[in-house]
Amino acid sequence: TTATTTSLSAKKKVIVLGGDGFCGWPTSLYLSDKGHSVTIVDNLSRRNIDTELGCQSLTPISSPQTRVNAWKEVSGKTIDFHNIDVAKDYDKLLALIKEKKPDTIIHFAEQRAAPYSMKSTKGKRYTVDNNIGGTNNLCCAVADSGLDVHIVHLGTMGVYGYGTSGGEIPEGYIDVTLPGGREANILHPAYPGSVYHATKCLDAIMFQFYNKNDQLRVTDLHQGIVWGTNTPQTVRDERLINRFDYDGDYGTVLNRFLMQGGMGVPLTVYGTGGQTRGFIHITDTTKCLEIAMENPPKKGERVEIFNQIAETRRVRDVAQMVATQTGVDMKLVPNPRQEAAENELDVSNRKFLSAGLSPTTLESENGLFSEVIDIVQKYKHRCDPEMILPASYWNKERAKACEGNL
Ligand code: NAD
Repeated sequence: TTATTTSLSAKKKVIVLGGDGFCGWPTSLYLSDKGHSVTIVDNLSRRNIDTELGCQSLTPISSPQTRVNAWKEVSGKTIDFHNIDVAKDYDKLLALIKEKKPDTIIHFAEQRAAPYSMKSTKGKRYTVDNNIGGTNNLCCAVADSGLDVHIVHLGTMGVYGYGTSGGEIPEGYIDVTLPGGREANILHPAYPGSVYHATKCLDAIMFQFYNKNDQLRVTDLHQGIVWGTNTPQTVRDERLINRFDYDGDYGTVLNRFLMQGGMGVPLTVYGTGGQTRGFIHITDTTKCLEIAMENPPKKGERVEIFNQIAETRRVRDVAQMVATQTGVDMKLVPNPRQEAAENELDVSNRKFLSAGLSPTTLESENGLFSEVIDIVQKYKHRCDPEMILPASYWNKERAKACEGNL
């Protein structure tokens, strides 16, 4: 009976902010499948941005209501859905937290595309207002509620800058010698490469403040680029299918290459393709969220930070893998981004490994790479190849360099 009590009491009440998105939806299903009680909050801004940009998920995603009804049918489990704007509807957010009394709130609800954040003045201002406003509202609401809620936030590897510190990037904090000679362990310096990445750096400072001031318990996950589409939960019914973004603003690099490979058009590699990035499969994202949820910092402890990546790869090597698999050539195009042409990236991910994560890599023998190729083949009639090309430039010089060259 002790074991039963332990396993029952281990089930948590979770609110997933941004639970209709690419990472949030499969994470909500995974946690529900594991017996946790899940409530999704999402204002559907991502679906609205699709309409604004004139594109759509390659996969035909169902409405949130159809999704949760289908999940009830296949699993017998209930997921609540609430349409709340985390950055604007403070009172509704606070009321929901007081009503649900969650153990954990997972915060995915941000504008997450670096290109979209650099597209226009409107994109820059929206990204800052939405992301910082949302994070501040969440911290205020948790403090205001008086409840001891663990916040788990999705940050990005991009907060560190890529290869700027030299040597292995530690998990969030670095040892320094302060002027005067005192040794200290402080937040890794922030070195964002876009307005989007700047919001994640600012988020980290907000969490540090609310943690110190209100003893909020926070875990910040600095995630790499997510690839893949489906998970063991989303394949259970086509109405549960996850979104797959392939456009130049929201498509993550590997998914964009796979789309181009599937369409038989050249893989557009920015610059020399010498940028090294961290990658993680969507199934591992869902597992990492549960690990983070199960290992909260104690009250009074500083913000916990994990690096959430499975491996690092150079972009041109990723393109070469897709070229080999699909028989499509790659094409170097001027880089729309203001960034170093080449960088090394060495990242510690020891915390997740020691917590039991056994990461899927691009070369894992489990067919996940070919699963994405199958998705692309199945739905390629829905793809508009024009949308894959970059449509946002970091500054006027980058826009000029790309003019007529894509
Ligand atoms: P996504 O855009 O697919 O999902 C985000 C969801 O949040 C969307 O459904 C959107 O409608 C919702 N949302 C945004 N603002 C909101 C608001 N103010 N109120 C309520 N809902 C709101 O993005 P994703 O790829 O699932 O990313 C989720 C999180 O993970 C983001 O914070 C992102 O920065 C982070 N992340 C993603 C990746 C990646 O490769 N996809 C990599 C690193 C970090």
